[in-house]
Amino acid sequence: MKIVCIGRNYGEHARELGNTIPDEPVVFLKPPSARIPLGGPIRLPAFSKDIHHEVELVYSIAQRGGRAVADRVTIGLDLTARDVQLDLKQKGLPWEKAKAFDGSAYVADVLAAVESFPAGHHVDFLLKKNGQVVQSGHSGQMLFDVPTLIAHVERYMALETGDLLFTGTPAGVGPIKAGDRLEGYFLGELLFDLDVVDGTATGR
Ligand code: ZN
Repeated sequence: MKIVCIGRNYGEHARELGNTIPDEPVVFLKPPSARIPLGGPIRLPAFSKDIHHEVELVYSIAQRGGRAVADRVTIGLDLTARDVQLDLKQKGLPWEKAKAFDGSAYVADVLAAVESFPAGHHVDFLLKKNGQVVQSGHSGQMLFDVPTLIAHVERYMALETGDLLFTGTPAGVGPIKAGDRLEGYFLGELLFDLDVVDGTATGR
């Protein structure tokens, strides 16, 4: 199982970080070890002073008749060490230290069948931090839609059943600190409720 992530797939978010609108999808990976166990908590690593929340629609991939399709959809968190990422970006280096660390990915356990949504239906989602809405968006705001993302990724690497595709975050990313609580809503339903704790006791 691999976790394929898309960056800068919502125009407002690209702009809030001072990035240009990409003319093709930005792709990066997280390893399976990035997964946070169901129910959390989110453990803040010692190497960063600026971990950001990014709530995203996450699609599970299935191989059907020799082609990869988006099978089910839920929400997740692409946790990002923004200070580390800025340093890597300035140096022109890969993003893994900022994006692929242990505890950088959360995927909610309720997955809706993609085919249960009518064509053109916009799947909406939002994130609350300590009870306040900080990010909200819907699938219709993506710069590149899911079939386009899958086709693009497959030019470079095979997508297999069980792979996960994070599809980018809407505007409103921001820092989290120990004691915060993050709630993710998908189609108006609460899918996760996670505590943020200091993770330095784990040795990282
Ligand atoms: Zn992201």
